[in-house]
Amino acid sequence: MVNMTADEELLFAKDVSSEVSGKPREHLAPWRILIVDDDPDVHTTTSFALRGTEILGRSLAFLHADSAEQARKVLGNENDIAVILLDVVMEEEDSGLKLVRVIREQLGMLDTRIILRTGQPGYAPEMDAIRDYDINDYKTKSELTRNKLFTALTSAIRSYRQIRTINSNRHGLDLIVRASGELLALSGIRNFAAGVITQMSALLGIMPEGLICVRRPPEGVLSHSDDTVVIAAAGRYASLINLPIKEIGNDHVYACLNHCMDLEQHVFGPDYTTLFFGSRSHRNMAAYLDAPLEIDDSSRQLLEVFCTNISVGLENTLLFSQLHEFAYFDSLTGLPNRRSLINKLDERLLGGERGRYSLALMDLDAFAETNDALGHQYGDELLKTVAERIRSTMGPQCTLARLSADTFAILGQIEQLLPAKLLGIFRDPFLIQEHELMISCTMGIAHLADIDGNGSEALKDAYLALRKAKSQTRGEYVLFSRDMATEIRERSRLLQALRIAIERQRLFLCYQPQICLRDGHVIGMEALLRWRTEEGSMISPDRFIPIAEHSGLIVGIGDWVLRMSCFQQAELTKAGFHDLSVGVNVSMGQFRHPRFLSSLQSALADSGANPTLIELEITESMAMEEADLLARTIDSIKALGVRIAVDDFGTGFSSLSYLQRLQVDRLKIDKAFVAEIEKSERARRIPELVIQLGHKLGLTVMAEGVETVGQAEILTSLGCEDAQGFHYAMPMEPDKLIDWLRTYTARIPHT
Ligand code: C2E
Ligand code: MG
Ligand code: MG
Repeated sequence: MVNMTADEELLFAKDVSSEVSGKPREHLAPWRILIVDDDPDVHTTTSFALRGTEILGRSLAFLHADSAEQARKVLGNENDIAVILLDVVMEEEDSGLKLVRVIREQLGMLDTRIILRTGQPGYAPEMDAIRDYDINDYKTKSELTRNKLFTALTSAIRSYRQIRTINSNRHGLDLIVRASGELLALSGIRNFAAGVITQMSALLGIMPEGLICVRRPPEGVLSHSDDTVVIAAAGRYASLINLPIKEIGNDHVYACLNHCMDLEQHVFGPDYTTLFFGSRSHRNMAAYLDAPLEIDDSSRQLLEVFCTNISVGLENTLLFSQLHEFAYFDSLTGLPNRRSLINKLDERLLGGERGRYSLALMDLDAFAETNDALGHQYGDELLKTVAERIRSTMGPQCTLARLSADTFAILGQIEQLLPAKLLGIFRDPFLIQEHELMISCTMGIAHLADIDGNGSEALKDAYLALRKAKSQTRGEYVLFSRDMATEIRERSRLLQALRIAIERQRLFLCYQPQICLRDGHVIGMEALLRWRTEEGSMISPDRFIPIAEHSGLIVGIGDWVLRMSCFQQAELTKAGFHDLSVGVNVSMGQFRHPRFLSSLQSALADSGANPTLIELEITESMAMEEADLLARTIDSIKALGVRIAVDDFGTGFSSLSYLQRLQVDRLKIDKAFVAEIEKSERARRIPELVIQLGHKLGLTVMAEGVETVGQAEILTSLGCEDAQGFHYAMPMEPDKLIDWLRTYTARIPHT
């Protein structure tokens, strides 16, 4: 029995009041104390002295070892020992000190506090050992009074608790930092919530057995719970995922989660825990855990840090989701956008059934005009209505997307995307702002089986078909083919090369002489554009002019041709070849250009060419297309004195009325007719007709592509005035042309 002085009693009472305040908390595990002593009395006295004692709110539990050897065994199997009361002298003089070394160095038990005791008051371990082995206290056995023991243990346990708290906080914070990092990497609220379950279980050291819900407030009302959905769940709740919480069939969990979200704070129940994760946008989240959490203040603080982190993460995730929505959905119609479509296409192309799918692009005809005429609000309405009609007609098996203002895409199985069905979507009028509106669409369709490549290439190919459809007509469709892709790729390659050729001045002009059939004298020449590649091969204007026209490059090229031709005309005059005209081919794009007239004027002025010896060649098809615009431009051109010829005449099924309206000077019979002229009587009819027609209208007629004497003779007999062709001369570069002119005029003197 331990004696106690009045002094000690007092101290004890004071200790109790300060350290064991509040209700004892039974659920907290007792502090484990290991007594190591070869004297059995010490074991009994110590346990007895401390019987029923509580320190820092917890009871004490004793483990016993009567030798250093046995202590090692105990320590090898146990952890969480708060204090070791260790006898220094046992089997050997320094058994205790040796054991201390083992405890710290071999067993790595750094948190456990050690109090050394010795029977000999005079004997004290060296200071070094106390310092090196982190020994808490040193007492003689005579100091084994209840009071002294209590004081020593209290201070040791307090220090043990602090060390443990610091270490576990460090570990907890480490977990939180790692968890936040990992949670940030998860995209989407569901992944995030699933991650929260995992990370929370790790932090709290429990099995993942919870479910997590997100609350979406209905239009600013925060207190209602009906649209709260289980967005992640684990363990035995896993099957509840995606259910609204009112349908999970567990009234208790339902009530707990609602309570937590209504209070907007954690609730620690006797057999459950609900944690609250707030977000500024009030799309709060709560987690229900199957386990009660008995946590002390420091764990609670850790949990707070964790939850705050989760809330920040939740906020970010919601923000990401929103960004994701912006990135993948069209805000007007709510349909997926181009990027989502490409992803979907990639999936389909990778899947084994690509052969069953096709992609249709629908472009609304004249949408821009409707938008301009009726306003953007109306335009928006229209797009939404169209999107809705497409959606309801095509059904949920098809993927819809809006690609640009008025272009929609449908990805679905071939039999669902039959052109008749697609065009049928636009058969009935659309009701917009109480008015009925008929619209049509033009489509490009591509079967995925015909696509070599990924989603964006599939989309590109469907666009090729769409563009082709639009260039042909409206309200129809074109099906993509591999040939189309090759052709278009070739064209774009050529366009690229043409741009470079222009820059590197690879284009030049040749001039082909034109002859008067009556007496054979040279009346002029036609300027013909040539392109010689770096490798020295020639690319025909029949290939590159259409591309230049389509791309708009023709405007610049044409200006240059016009200027060069005017300078050529002036040169020829200077060289003594008077009255030779120069024919210049002009494309529609040039004619339409507002600066065409001024370019022509400055080319004439700068070169000093004689305007009456410049002849612009327009094609018959051009003349038919935009007769009104052309008539006005031609009038202004004629006012300058410049002449006009209609090129390739006979190929364009012209209505004769336009010839009367346009002030042209000459018709050029297309070389295709000339090529046939010797073959039959019948083949002469058209040239004959053209010549007669020209004469009736007071125009001169020139035959193109004359290759033989026979052709020349027939044309002469039909009354054709002039001719141009290989029979007379090839197109030539300027210096060659001068030589040719010299030789030729020497042979056939001017009459
Ligand atoms: P085009 O204006 O009808 O030019 C006559 C074409 O017939 C030229 O072809 C010429 O080389 C070719 N030709 C001349 N004599 C004969 C012959 O006896 N037999 C045959 N089979 N062909 C003959 P080219 O130079 O290949 O030009 C083709 C077309 O390219 C031109 O037809 C014209 O429409 C266009 N083009 C040429 N240069 C220009 C230009 O500077 N601007 C514009 N816009 N178009 C041009
Ligand atoms: Mg021509
Ligand atoms: Mg021609």
